[in-house]
Amino acid sequence: MVGGYLPKDFDEALKILNEKDVTIYAGGTDLMVRNKNAASLLPKFNNDLLYIGNLKELKGIKESDDSLEIGTACTLSSLLREKGIPEVLKESIRQIASPAIRNMGTIGGNICNASPAGDTLPILYALGAKLKLVSENSSREVHIEDFILGPRKIILERTEILKSIIIPKAEFNKVYYEKVGARKASAISKLSFIGLAEVKSGKVKDIRIAIGSVAPKVVRVRAAEDFIKEKNLEDIKSEMEKIRNIYFKEIVPIDDQRSTAVYRKTVALRLIQYFLNTRI
Ligand SMILES: Cc1cc2nc3c(=O)[nH]c(=O)nc-3n(C[C@H](O)[C@H](O)[C@H](O)COP(=O)(O)OP(=O)(O)OC[C@H]3O[C@@H](n4cnc5c(N)ncnc54)[C@H](O)[C@@H]3O)c2cc1C
Repeated sequence: MVGGYLPKDFDEALKILNEKDVTIYAGGTDLMVRNKNAASLLPKFNNDLLYIGNLKELKGIKESDDSLEIGTACTLSSLLREKGIPEVLKESIRQIASPAIRNMGTIGGNICNASPAGDTLPILYALGAKLKLVSENSSREVHIEDFILGPRKIILERTEILKSIIIPKAEFNKVYYEKVGARKASAISKLSFIGLAEVKSGKVKDIRIAIGSVAPKVVRVRAAEDFIKEKNLEDIKSEMEKIRNIYFKEIVPIDDQRSTAVYRKTVALRLIQYFLNTRI
């Protein structure tokens, strides 16, 4: 039978993590599925669980002039009720699973699970999110792109907790999000696409494109973004083949139960073109 720890605060959670061999448990919506057992038996765990889902230090959001800090134990549902959360992040959350899962699942769990199909990830990549990792003796900030190494692979040390997500504020007057799934609700992505741009007087001042489920990690290609930046819209259209070729090399999907590599690559490249041709 698995045991559990219910720390009274964040410091106690870090202490337990430092001293015991435990698995962090927030909403459990990934963890329980990953450790599922035969029908009607409890999930199987090799070590005790450390419940962090109710720690107040990991809840709520803080806004400053230049950034937004989100506690990682915020449930997906609770973020939909927060005024300061970017609308595009809310849009991606509304399309995750069902209300019951969103009421339990946390944004920190979505990140730490590091699934290529994690729906908040492309948005956080595009927004340039940084993550605050804290242990009993240290604290560091890393870019989300450096935090995730591949499917289920993250750089979190055994003694660290992902405490918060920091999103720098930025202006975008063009926003396009698309989750491609087998149905409108309660579907894991075949792929997902986010395009953000700031366009002024017909010129692209900032552009971010991130695509999920088309490679082991979310695809965000700085070389392509740099190529597009400062160009006017007509020039982007005439350079579309060059832009497509940059992305073509980076989009390396797989076949799985949800889709095929060919479908994913075709749709991802078309969404990039659609965004650049008609949505900016
Ligand atoms: C039916 C169903 C449908 C789903 N549909 C979708 C979907 O459409 N889109 C989608 O993106 N996801 C989906 N999910 C996956 C899941 O609900 C989300 O990834 C959710 O955000 C996970 O959060 P959690 O708090 O439940 O994570 P948990 O299961 O508690 O934890 C996940 C992992 O992260 C670690 N962890 C959690 N929090 C922290 C922290 N703060 N610091 C360090 N480590 C931490 C845990 O140790 C574990 O390894 C679905 C799940 C189910 C069961």
